[in-house]
Amino acid sequence: MDFLRLRLSGFKSFVDPTEFLIEPGLTGVVGPNGCGKSNVLEGLRWVMGANSAKALRGQGMDDVIFAGASQRPARSHAEVILTIDNARHRAPQPFTDAPVLEVSRRIDRGQGSTYRVNGKEVRLRDVQLLFADASTGANSPALVRQGQISELIAAKPQNRRRILEEAGGVSGLHTRRHEAELRLRAAETNLSRLDDIAGELE
Ligand code: ATP
Repeated sequence: MDFLRLRLSGFKSFVDPTEFLIEPGLTGVVGPNGCGKSNVLEGLRWVMGANSAKALRGQGMDDVIFAGASQRPARSHAEVILTIDNARHRAPQPFTDAPVLEVSRRIDRGQGSTYRVNGKEVRLRDVQLLFADASTGANSPALVRQGQISELIAAKPQNRRRILEEAGGVSGLHTRRHEAELRLRAAETNLSRLDDIAGELE
């Protein structure tokens, strides 16, 4: 699953729609201090479902919306769209057959985020699983924030294990196992209720 294009609009300092083509191989982002290099990376993490405002250097999630500048009023929403090559059809259903995926996240001030894949509204969980299965995502160790190396060195063993699991692409399986366990428990409760009712009828 290769990333092809990242489009930011109203996201942090990218008030006007801005598109980055992601060519095969290594991509470097260079520029003077404060020009928005980290914002590009944060846009990528955000569209993949990043949900910690602190990790995006804000107080609340609305802080990702362009806050205004001397000549420009603040925006009421922000949107990031990531275009992904799915030629090898690795995306989960119902998107397996689509050759290209457009994953978008939009936030409206005070109203939270909406996620879409190829125009179809999906849940945060669907977006997170899509990327987890491809061994990437908002917390992927491939995206290294400033200060992250020292955090990793100081991390507790459980947190290091989580990082390794994400890199190995098994974190999506944990989520699915947890959901299956919840469904199993609900089915067990229903079964015991049925037993009670059957006992009363005998
Ligand atoms: P450095 O090289 O110093 O790490 P950088 O190129 O990574 O800098 P960023 O940290 O990505 O730069 O961008 C910082 C700029 O983004 C600041 O000028 C900041 O005011 C601006 N910025 C961040 N959030 C918003 C927002 N919500 N609205 C408007 N501008 C924002």
